[in-house]
Amino acid sequence: MRKNLKTIIGISVLGLVLVLLTLKFLDSSLKPITKEKILLDTLVTIKVYEKNQKRASQAINKAFKEIEIIERTANNFDSKSDLSKLNREAGNEPVKVSPDLFKMIEVSLNYNRVLDGAFDISILPLVDLWSFGKRKDPPRKSDILSKLSLVGIEKVKINSQDHTVSLAPNTGLDLGGISKGYAVDRAIEILKGEGINSALVTTGSTTRTLGQKPGGQLWQVGIQHPRTPDKLIGIVNVGQKSISTSGDYQRFFIKDGRRYHHILHPKTGYPVEGIISVTVITDRSCAEADVLSTGIFVLGYPQGMEFIEKALDIEGIIITSDGRVHLSRGMQGKIKDMPNKIF
Ligand code: ADP
Ligand code: MG
Repeated sequence: MRKNLKTIIGISVLGLVLVLLTLKFLDSSLKPITKEKILLDTLVTIKVYEKNQKRASQAINKAFKEIEIIERTANNFDSKSDLSKLNREAGNEPVKVSPDLFKMIEVSLNYNRVLDGAFDISILPLVDLWSFGKRKDPPRKSDILSKLSLVGIEKVKINSQDHTVSLAPNTGLDLGGISKGYAVDRAIEILKGEGINSALVTTGSTTRTLGQKPGGQLWQVGIQHPRTPDKLIGIVNVGQKSISTSGDYQRFFIKDGRRYHHILHPKTGYPVEGIISVTVITDRSCAEADVLSTGIFVLGYPQGMEFIEKALDIEGIIITSDGRVHLSRGMQGKIKDMPNKIF
């Protein structure tokens, strides 16, 4: 009798294990639904794991619509965007802005303090002067100095009660260092609201994952090789995270052997020297990851790495101009085949 009971229990346990393994296998064999769209001046990809294909497809379309809203809100190159309208009112009465625009400005101002002024959205006069994508040589030093006097977070006043923003005369805001991350956050929120619980949204430089892949597998996020297009320097395996990379290779020109790129030092008015790229991996929102990768780029090395090490929920990879790859303590040994030097 004892023996029989043991056998029955044994068979039941084995059966249960087999059922669980089969479920896991079926789950892991679930194919993702992926859609891509050119938005925010880049290729945006949304990948969703969901058994109900129709639900997945509808959720993705809705998420793309939301990204379009953020694009229309924060695009400086569109004179009709909310941001352009706000910038045109610099020197005038405070302007009431949408909740999205207010949130992006508020988060940016908070991180200006956290990052010792390294991340500064009042940088627009300098960004306009440098005009990456159009210019092929650096502006005159005197012009840089005169624009520099218009940059500084004290030029921006916000009121959290009535969501108004006022800007000092001739100043303006640039949200290029947060809008992609914020748009990714909004897309993830929309997907969640549609009942999706396994997804990845990426603009290339900013990525956020939701939940886990089927079968509990980790997500793989590739990190762009900063000098060889279409090549990765490594793949990070992550659970639910925000990942952002800022690099000197996104928008730049080379003049007399020197690279001039789009991440500007708010104190000098010139592109930041000494860093090639910064990747941030965090539990914080993707907007914050986006801000952090730009801000830490400005802090430089080793200050940027010291900032990462002090924060409990931020890991990072910094590549310095000598080609060396610096990993935060929590990243060490985590990335397969990661080189110590990229050249
Ligand atoms: P990407 O657009 O590739 O994601 P980043 O997130 O690093 O790149 O953002 C860079 C953009 O941020 C620049 O193109 C510019 O619009 C803006 N920017 C440049 N320097 C600063 C700075 N010091 N603080 C805040 N924003 C900046
Ligand atoms: Mg970015």
